Amino acid sequence: KTTHFGFQEVPVEEKAGRVADVFHSVAGKYDLMNDLMSGGVHRLWKRFTIELSGVRRGHKVLDIAGGTGDLSYKFSKLVGPEGLVVLADINESMLRVGRDRLTDRGVAGNLVVSQADAQYLPFPDNTFDCITIAFGLRNVTDKDLALRSMLRVLKPGGRLLVLEFSKPQSELLSKAYDAYSFKLLPFMGKLVTNDADSYAYLAESIRMHPDQATLKNMMLDAGFANCEYHNMTGGIVALHRGTKP
Ligand code: SAM
Repeated sequence: KTTHFGFQEVPVEEKAGRVADVFHSVAGKYDLMNDLMSGGVHRLWKRFTIELSGVRRGHKVLDIAGGTGDLSYKFSKLVGPEGLVVLADINESMLRVGRDRLTDRGVAGNLVVSQADAQYLPFPDNTFDCITIAFGLRNVTDKDLALRSMLRVLKPGGRLLVLEFSKPQSELLSKAYDAYSFKLLPFMGKLVTNDADSYAYLAESIRMHPDQATLKNMMLDAGFANCEYHNMTGGIVALHRGTKP
């Protein structure tokens, strides 16, 4: 099958390889591009995620696909010295940028960095009070496997928050967003990172990602309870939340 951008639909290992290439390539410019592409709004989406996390002092938090550590940084302040934050990502280039950035901002003591695949989390059962995955799930090859792995390492009563691009709720917004992401986004990617392909992949991966209701059902199927979602920016982004029974 050929997708919108002429990408062939690729086998499992190839998808993982392509995702790795994309993030090795963009790591150094990742934060700058995030601000440029979203006009800074990604900060508001992340702030809302923190608000709905219910994370308090002493909690253990896992930030999967945490990349350069935006959420981890905020959590490390919230949980205090008696808590723990694990910044986990599969990609060492992203983790390296994240670790340097957090060290520069003075985070120490309650944060550890772990190279880990969301599908096979290397942590014991019932470890975390809260798990976040922000703009990461769409890059994971087997999302169902990843959701089950997250459920396993959450404590009973613990929360999962999935922040991800989703389906715009109006026709007009959908059209404007298509024009933006399929035309302007690769162009900006080319200007800033000299890598239009990676940003074309980004636009494509957003189109292929399950919409709000489908992702909610996937969470229910994986065994999460109290699943709900909140649309943000007209559904361009949605925050899904579920708890471990
Ligand atoms: N959470 C950060 C944020 O919101 O700014 C970074 C998001 S970045 C768009 C997506 C991240 O997902 C990349 O750092 C990538 O390496 C990571 N990733 C992709 N596949 C993964 C997997 N299977 N397991 C863990 N992380 C993965």
